[in-house]
Amino acid sequence: MDIERGSKHYKYQNNDGNVMKQSTMSDHTPIGDGNRAIRLEALYKKIGEPDANGCMPWLGMTNNIGYPFIPYLNFKQNKYRMMLATRALLMLKLGRDILPKHNANHTCHNRWCMNEQHLEEGTQTDKMRKMREDKRLEGRTNPHGVGGHRQHGRKYKYTDEEIQFQRTATFEEIAARFNVPRDKAYNMKRGAHHFYKWLPFPDDK
Ligand SMILES: [Zn+2]
Repeated sequence: MDIERGSKHYKYQNNDGNVMKQSTMSDHTPIGDGNRAIRLEALYKKIGEPDANGCMPWLGMTNNIGYPFIPYLNFKQNKYRMMLATRALLMLKLGRDILPKHNANHTCHNRWCMNEQHLEEGTQTDKMRKMREDKRLEGRTNPHGVGGHRQHGRKYKYTDEEIQFQRTATFEEIAARFNVPRDKAYNMKRGAHHFYKWLPFPDDK
């Protein structure tokens, strides 16, 4: 991806040079030290409804180990790069950059969670200690991982039948059944695909 600086517009191009998106600077918000900027609307649009624990699922792109990932504009290089969405969210919450060698650690241990209240600045050592204290190093329930399983005694938002419906129905059908707008139906379908790994997909689709 590359960028050309215009008088007022950026051209957001893929490697073939095709314009993917045009946006004005006015919809970018500086974060951290101010040399980076992100589109807040694009960020918040991809955060789903909180579950019973208040964890808010990321519905957007993830990196290779399942952490929320977003593009940001690097002013110095005049290019879009990728960063952890959790870091961007924590920077917005703190109103400053994250300290060197510190991360956006989850207090809930759900790497897909985008509730800013569940994020805190800490080192990797802090994170491992906290995970040991909370006995989370074994049997963790990351819905993006292969080992995701139904949590015993937990009340899920949708029944198995509703989840399978969301996985297989069209956006229009989902919107009609749950009485939600089409973009919400899109998020629900994405969520039904990403999460509930313990529920096998129906055979027919
Ligand atoms: Zn959480």
